[in-house]
Amino acid sequence: MPGPADPARTVRLFEAYVRHVWPLHRRLVRARLARRCRRCAASERMVALGADGVCRLCAEAAAAGPVAARTPDRRAVDELEAILESAQGAGKGRYDALVLYSGGKDSTYLIRRVRERHPRLRLLAFTIHNGFMSPVALGNIDDLIPRLGVDHLLVRPRREFYVRLFRHCLTHLNAGGGYGTVDFSDGEFLLDSARRIAAEQGIPLILAGYSRYQVENGLGLRQFESPRERELADRTETAGIPLADIFPPDEVAHWWHGTRHPPAAVARLLFPLHAWDLEEEEVKRQVGAWGLLSRRSASPVATNHQLIPLLGVVDVHQLGYSSFEIELCRMIREGKAAVADWLHVFELLEHTARTGLFVRPMVEDLLAQLGLTSADVGVRFA
Ligand SMILES: [Zn+2]
Repeated sequence: MPGPADPARTVRLFEAYVRHVWPLHRRLVRARLARRCRRCAASERMVALGADGVCRLCAEAAAAGPVAARTPDRRAVDELEAILESAQGAGKGRYDALVLYSGGKDSTYLIRRVRERHPRLRLLAFTIHNGFMSPVALGNIDDLIPRLGVDHLLVRPRREFYVRLFRHCLTHLNAGGGYGTVDFSDGEFLLDSARRIAAEQGIPLILAGYSRYQVENGLGLRQFESPRERELADRTETAGIPLADIFPPDEVAHWWHGTRHPPAAVARLLFPLHAWDLEEEEVKRQVGAWGLLSRRSASPVATNHQLIPLLGVVDVHQLGYSSFEIELCRMIREGKAAVADWLHVFELLEHTARTGLFVRPMVEDLLAQLGLTSADVGVRFA
């Protein structure tokens, strides 16, 4: 039976509290909360606020004028379609493309669209279970994979591997906080696992449903394909931390070592959504039109992995705000999310992170699972 520390229960409590109690509660504790930009809700600890209550980033965006509507780069789209077309039947084994699959709308959209345009491309959907995946996300995958009509590979590495990775990252945060360290290295290992599986099974393509923003800001790429030299190289660090500091040699070997494979066996890594460059709303609408929205919760908080709230709490103590707010505030600034939906979420996270209000049992339980105490990550509930 899930106890009071059950992350899903804590998330539901948090979401109910934000809606029903926080609008009143916040008035009592306002003086102790960081000031936030009245346009994008960014904390004054993230970015300087002007006398008018507007942050520097919003002021700069206003001065630059309206953003031109995006026009997809025709050449990139054609180039991508040509690669997918010629990969049909090109795999040495049973598959031509390994597609990272999270059960979310972007990867669902990716599989469906590729299936439709390139029906002879033999796809293998791939999910890695990091030991902290939410039951909602797993349920979404179970729901959608049969309807997408593709083979699916779910890999669950032994628990100690991820515990070691997350424990080390959480106690060695870089400037990007939990997002830039724990979540980032989680994503790096997902990509590395895909690279290994593709090389081992003779699969020539890897497709990842990352948005244009994630590709450009998370991976630092300006095009839809990862540079060849990156794919052929060996990984030595993740999120700025040398792998040898985290893992014994046999576990360092689980990461990608491109030089151990003949170059012809190394897959091309593509990010089709970068070329297609769709608005989030368009992806949502299309996935809905295909009848592929999961019947289960679509709340991003509920589908994220279970360490995310813990990372938020640690971030508030280390940075003054959660590192996940950076991308959300950008979306608000660009009109893709509503400030009213997020301001109270950010405020309540800041408040509960400091006081422990209903998150304390979950935080302590997750830390114990990682072999850590509050003191190890600089968390002191007031
Ligand atoms: Zn702002």
